[in-house]
Amino acid sequence: MRRAVVLGGSIAGLLAARVLSDHADEVLVLERDDIAPRGGLGSGQGPRPGVPQGTQMHALLEGGRRRIDEWFPGFATDLIADGAALADTGRDLHTYVGGRRKVLVDGVEMISATRPFLEAHLRRRVLSLGNLRLVHGRVCGLAFEGARVSGVRYTRTFTDARDEVVLDSDLVVDATGRASRIGTWLQEGGWPEPATRRMHVDLGYTTALFRRPEGRHDTTLAQSLSTTPDGRLRLSTLGRVEGDRWIVLVAGYADDRPGRGSDEFLLRCKQDPAAEFRQLTEDGELMGEPVSYRHPDNRRRDFHLLDRFPAGLLAIGDALASFNPIYGQGMSSAAMHASCLAAYLESRKSLDPAWSYFKQTRAVVDDAWRTSTLNDLRLPHVTGPRPRGFRIASRLSDIVDRASMTDPVIHRRCLEVTQMLTPARTLMRPGTLLRAAWAVRNQDA
Ligand SMILES: Cc1cc2nc3c(=O)[nH]c(=O)nc-3n(C[C@H](O)[C@H](O)[C@H](O)COP(=O)(O)OP(=O)(O)OC[C@H]3O[C@@H](n4cnc5c(N)ncnc54)[C@H](O)[C@@H]3O)c2cc1C
Repeated sequence: MRRAVVLGGSIAGLLAARVLSDHADEVLVLERDDIAPRGGLGSGQGPRPGVPQGTQMHALLEGGRRRIDEWFPGFATDLIADGAALADTGRDLHTYVGGRRKVLVDGVEMISATRPFLEAHLRRRVLSLGNLRLVHGRVCGLAFEGARVSGVRYTRTFTDARDEVVLDSDLVVDATGRASRIGTWLQEGGWPEPATRRMHVDLGYTTALFRRPEGRHDTTLAQSLSTTPDGRLRLSTLGRVEGDRWIVLVAGYADDRPGRGSDEFLLRCKQDPAAEFRQLTEDGELMGEPVSYRHPDNRRRDFHLLDRFPAGLLAIGDALASFNPIYGQGMSSAAMHASCLAAYLESRKSLDPAWSYFKQTRAVVDDAWRTSTLNDLRLPHVTGPRPRGFRIASRLSDIVDRASMTDPVIHRRCLEVTQMLTPARTLMRPGTLLRAAWAVRNQDA
């Protein structure tokens, strides 16, 4: 290809750009935020308007970390050298359910760092690629030529549509996130828009940073699932991050979403049955005000169901599917989509519509969607749609979850799924189910 244009310069866009740099003379990343680095990593390490979730806790799962390390050897080592925390699940990941700690199993590693820090490191590596350039502007639509997308329309002034410029491109990759306007852009060119499936979960996140007290409280990563006396599911998570700080998240659903303000934040920590969160209110020093974020729904765009689609266009990352963030799948999913993009580009013989790409990403999305929604559908306020066989799948997964509290083999298999190393269906294998049932029986005995 002569030129590929990536729309959006966040995690999915940067990973797509990395893959495209092997296949195009020139790769342009078109981003509405000014993300051009100015002097080392210093700029761009704070949250930015185009990625509002950047204020919230983010962990990089092992499934994503491995892939990113393949494209950028030493990426994780650099992050850690600059202050990110590496959490080995056997030592550092403390998981509590209702205040009871899960058995530890080692060998799975996650990275805990603030989201802007992760993104700034990735951006630095991507921008060091010789054939890649950032373009600052807002995408307004696509340009079409016959049955293909021939470019992108964008403005540099952001407000004045008369300023519109067309950027020619052999391939356009939409990485503009969950609010992508790809459906509208397709319709404007006379193409059908993909059906968007939504599952309303109404999740509220509030995140705060704490200074770590010297020499005390050495936790690297802790997560606590608990239920309030009136039956509401809550999640608290704490991770050590760069700058000798902790990032701490409290989350709840529907009318139990955490409100704003530090008093309520600290109260939630105090109410948590896991000691790490209570202790934080005694010896952690809150840095600034907590910041809230609302995630109304999980959503996916089913491109594979369309019967017509232009050549020269595809979507990646949250523009394809975005899930309940408590499972931390987003960045790793984007990395897996980027692997599908690499496979598509290697096998592609012409500029036909990217059906084989959408077929492959469908399997990735289905799997992450299954992990996320199977749990979400157990929440009383989540009404569906329920997939076929949901009741039985939910019952079996309940047994596996319970067994993972005490059985290291089952916990390890669950971690491999939640860390996106193996597909979710592996937990439904007869051997795993039998072992889980046995472990639960022993717990009850
Ligand atoms: C609260 C919360 C917590 C999360 N926690 C985790 C976690 O722990 N682990 C994890 O892996 N994932 C997590 N995620 C998911 C993760 O943030 C995303 O999946 C990840 O950022 C990949 O998103 P993306 O690059 O596709 O889109 P985004 O990160 O949303 O980026 C879209 C980009 O497109 C740009 N853009 C949008 N429109 C235009 C336009 N018209 N013109 C030009 N540019 C445009 C934006 O400025 C932005 O840079 C979380 C998400 C949320 C909401």
